[in-house]
Amino acid sequence: GVSSHVAILAKNYGIPAAFALENITSLVTQGSTIIVDGTTGEVTIDPDEETIKNCNEAIAAEIAHQKALKVFRNRSAVTKDGTILKIYANIGTPEEAELALKEGADGIGLFRTEFLFMSESRTDQSKLTEDAQFEAYKKVLETMKGKPVTIRTLDAGGDKLIELDEIPKVDEKNPIMGLRAIRLSLKYPHLFKTQLRALFRASAFGNIAIMYPMITSIEEVRRIKEIVASVKSELDADGIKYGDMQQGIMVETPAAALITDELAKEVDFFSIGTNDLTQYTLAMDRQNSKLDSFYQPHHPAILKLIQMTIENGHKGGAWVGICGELGADTSLTETFIQMGVDELSVSPSMILPVREAIRKSHAKR
Ligand code: PEP
Ligand code: MG
Repeated sequence: GVSSHVAILAKNYGIPAAFALENITSLVTQGSTIIVDGTTGEVTIDPDEETIKNCNEAIAAEIAHQKALKVFRNRSAVTKDGTILKIYANIGTPEEAELALKEGADGIGLFRTEFLFMSESRTDQSKLTEDAQFEAYKKVLETMKGKPVTIRTLDAGGDKLIELDEIPKVDEKNPIMGLRAIRLSLKYPHLFKTQLRALFRASAFGNIAIMYPMITSIEEVRRIKEIVASVKSELDADGIKYGDMQQGIMVETPAAALITDELAKEVDFFSIGTNDLTQYTLAMDRQNSKLDSFYQPHHPAILKLIQMTIENGHKGGAWVGICGELGADTSLTETFIQMGVDELSVSPSMILPVREAIRKSHAKR
């Protein structure tokens, strides 16, 4: 599906990709010419001359557009009526931070740390030690040179299966609703504590915020706070210095969105994960490409939950961003700004188009 993690990685790198193609291998023969249109998600096999000509013209137009967008690298994300927004980047590897900086990101809004654990090149995946994690986080902070970096704790499980020695294998009938993300961290606190220690140690090297995925209740947030407090006292006892950092949560379940009035009192910020929020609100598996014709990311229920989250966040003193794919949907940029969103975090390849869209928008209706 188009909101699967493979699609997200391809987008981060600006790699044209098409998804959910059935029987494609039976249609392609050795030496076939193939056009992959990453904008429409269409693939053409053995196109005729006319199609190739149109395709080359579209490529030339896209290159010209990309070139024109470069002027926005050094311009701030300000609306026509003077509201300033932050545009942050979503990354999955420390190396992508360089890409984000090159595209003019104001910071990192979402570092999906599970990709560190999933990396195929890791010879021993199960041993992503505290030191190895610390080095990865420090690298992102150093690359971003003092700009804010929001690091999300392990969002494993569901469609991101990770085998770790520290946790027993589970065979779940419904992994998307299973033992995943923060549930895994809370069930196996030693795993969580290792990551928190690495994050706190890295905090001495830049401007870092921690974000927790898949929150559904106040109790989870309070439990996180207890674990964070115990990690801090362990670091104090070890004489290890750490900086001050903001703590926030992903709002990506309808349950969290509906109690954002309460949650706002507990955290510094909300980041709305529209990929999962859409999946759970519409009860549609984001990976199931058979549902693409039913999948409605602009569904009014989603927009209402986003609006509610922003309003409740602000009332409770929390700033609110969007880090799901909808944040990069330029047809909604003005709507989000008018709802009062403070930050949009998008794949590096979407930073400039979103900045252009912000500069064309009005914050006041
Ligand atoms: C989301 O759910 O919108 C999100 C940003 O997280 P992920 O895509 O990694 O699940
Ligand atoms: Mg998510």
